[in-house]
Amino acid sequence: MFRPLFFSLLSIILFIQCSRNSTNQEQTPYNFALAIHGGAGNLDCNDLDSLEQHAYRMAINSALNAGVQVLNQGGSACDAVVEVVCYLEDNPLFNAGKGAVFTNKGTIELDASIMRGLDLNAGAVASVSNIKNPIKAALRVMDSSKHVLLAGSGASEFAQTQHLELVEQQYYFTTKSYQRYLKAREDDKQGTVGCVALDKYGNLCAGTSTGGMSNKKYGRIGDSPIIGAGTYANNATCGISATGHGEFFIRYNVAHDISALMEYKELTLEQAAQVVILEKLVKEGANGGVVCLDTYGRPAMVFNTTGMFRGYANSEGDRIVRLFKESQVKSK
Ligand code: ASP
Repeated sequence: MFRPLFFSLLSIILFIQCSRNSTNQEQTPYNFALAIHGGAGNLDCNDLDSLEQHAYRMAINSALNAGVQVLNQGGSACDAVVEVVCYLEDNPLFNAGKGAVFTNKGTIELDASIMRGLDLNAGAVASVSNIKNPIKAALRVMDSSKHVLLAGSGASEFAQTQHLELVEQQYYFTTKSYQRYLKAREDDKQGTVGCVALDKYGNLCAGTSTGGMSNKKYGRIGDSPIIGAGTYANNATCGISATGHGEFFIRYNVAHDISALMEYKELTLEQAAQVVILEKLVKEGANGGVVCLDTYGRPAMVFNTTGMFRGYANSEGDRIVRLFKESQVKSK
């Protein structure tokens, strides 16, 4: 008489145990994760020859390696973001640091920002023209000043007091970028760079760096150094780095809007990013995309252009490197 009862009880216990395990598995955060971008734009595989595509893939891969190494060794999410963004700023393929685009006056003006999800602290520099790695200056503004955003010569003076490397304008020029500038001033080079990292302590950090839009008006500042527009991180929701037509990203407060949709409407990261990038921005005819991580280290890489150079890696060894619109990266 007790046998059927015993077996029913056993199966109920087993069922509860199994569903607990599967929930836990789904919810287990990665030890660390990293998502990066090298800009979004309307180009596809016909616009870049196979050598060029290979070069971009290699660069994204190397940037992921640099970040993974930091996170693997127990470095913080912000350490990883700075390492990755510096690598991309130093790489002339991208529109940040060396290789940045020119203003309508033929000068270089760079913007960058960083935000830490733990305490919502942030730092940024705008319109700087002699700091080798603007992301390092943004980090110092966050960690070593009581301000969030420094611009122009004030930012340069601050960088000097922080013993950051300063360079002449020529440093940023590459023959290719200068020829592009002379040939077609309206030509828009894709290649803003950004990174979001989750470290093993559960902290998120996001950073973005750019030369801005090609042939931009001298003095113009885009979304990349604006916290909430081009960069946002909050340990309660997600980390985001954006790329695209900055004026729209500022007006639509894109990065913060994605976080707010998660916080107030309880959307998943993928859903929130899709609402903002594929619905709100598309309605406005605004181009661009975002790379994001949620608090579990799961990525969303959403863009409304034909291409966004992007990569993702995590502590489990998963790795994605893509340039064009293929199946979008789905959360696990
Ligand atoms: N968002 C950048 C800006 O408007 C440009 C880009 O991401 O391509 O300055």
